[in-house]
Amino acid sequence: MTIVDTPERRQLRELTRAFVTREVLPHLDDWERAGEVPRALHATAAKIGLLGIGFPESVGGSGGDLLDSIVVTEEIIRSGGSSGLVAALFTHGIALPHLVAAAGRTGGTLGARLGGGPAPGDDDLVDRYVRPTLAGTMIGALAITEPDGGSDVAAIRTTARRDGDHYVVNGSKTYITSGVRADFVTTAVCTDFPGSGELSLLVIDKGTPGFTVGRRLEKLGWHCSDTAELSFVDVRVPVSNRIGEENTGFLAIMQHFAAERLSLATQAYATAQRCVELATRWCRNRATFGRPLASRQLVRHRLAEMHTRAESARAYVHEVAARVAAGEPVVTEVAMAKNVAVAACDQVVDQALQLHGGFGYLRDAEVERHYRDARILGIGGGTTEIMNEIIAKGMGL
Ligand SMILES: Cc1cc2nc3c(=O)[nH]c(=O)nc-3n(C[C@H](O)[C@H](O)[C@H](O)COP(=O)(O)OP(=O)(O)OC[C@H]3O[C@@H](n4cnc5c(N)ncnc54)[C@H](O)[C@@H]3O)c2cc1C
Repeated sequence: MTIVDTPERRQLRELTRAFVTREVLPHLDDWERAGEVPRALHATAAKIGLLGIGFPESVGGSGGDLLDSIVVTEEIIRSGGSSGLVAALFTHGIALPHLVAAAGRTGGTLGARLGGGPAPGDDDLVDRYVRPTLAGTMIGALAITEPDGGSDVAAIRTTARRDGDHYVVNGSKTYITSGVRADFVTTAVCTDFPGSGELSLLVIDKGTPGFTVGRRLEKLGWHCSDTAELSFVDVRVPVSNRIGEENTGFLAIMQHFAAERLSLATQAYATAQRCVELATRWCRNRATFGRPLASRQLVRHRLAEMHTRAESARAYVHEVAARVAAGEPVVTEVAMAKNVAVAACDQVVDQALQLHGGFGYLRDAEVERHYRDARILGIGGGTTEIMNEIIAKGMGL
């Protein structure tokens, strides 16, 4: 029994596992080759309530909290899915929370409304973007990172100049998950001079004149997750598409980083757990010099250490997630949870591949995909080094 293990969550695990077995596993290799997951998968996941987990029913979600979202993420990977699939199918987990919070529809610290009561346009944004996305009929993305840099969020250079009841947006974004398929992009813009740190969030529709989706970026891993460059040249965005008040974007981005980082931490320890399972199965069946690999003490101890790393990372991530869900301000602990889980994952996927020998290096091996997919987890949502900066600040350094 762990802190996230309740009868309802066990049911959620079963639902997720059945979904992955039926709807994902027969097609995942094809989607990896195609470079994206089909839109129909969003509708299927929405129909059984998976897409809406962690979002309140008042915005079209299925209810549940951060811990329920973690259960879904964990189970997708443990039942043979991948972190790339999570990134592609659950991009709304990073694209929507700012809209939901601005409309005052969530409780707790994560959902705290920034800058007073809901602004007039915020309910309208929920109807136009949040509901259809959670129903699986729209796809959203979150665009913060720019070609000049991603770690220094305050240095964003994409500008939005006010012109009557519109903003005129100029700039570019890169590495945007689901950017190729997205119908709308929650976009961080600078509403003062570039680099001033005065940020706002605008929802920008695909098809708006001047908004171009650039090339599909080819990557080491996360092959089923499309990633794009975005360009904005004199793009006119209605002021009613601004999320919350002007210049509250930086705080909103920072607040919602907690959930994104814990999702990435979950993807990391779950990938490690899955790789322990794969390696254990392999070592039981693979015989060398006349005996199964698993009969050798060196191999057994290696598996034991991998298992220990994965399980201790899981326990710590769960503890921090429970504190976040309870509204505790645990920014430092979230950063530590991400780094602990990513370090566990990096070590475990490497050793799991090694134990598979030559087969581990082949595309046919599931462990090969996890090895490639895992490398992004210490980069996305704030790098390991940026997490260390946060931890050092938390230590008073
Ligand atoms: C597959 C993929 C998907 C992504 N999806 C999205 C998305 O959906 N939306 C989005 O907005 N972004 C997305 N990103 C971008 C990601 O968040 C950034 O790549 C990340 O934040 C790092 O930014 P950067 O690449 O500009 O690196 P930089 O900021 O240029 O950093 C380069 C290196 O320097 C280190 N570094 C930087 N500053 C310091 C410092 N002060 N001290 C010590 N070391 C430092 C970093 O840790 C890193 O190792 C994605 C990236 C990838 C690869």
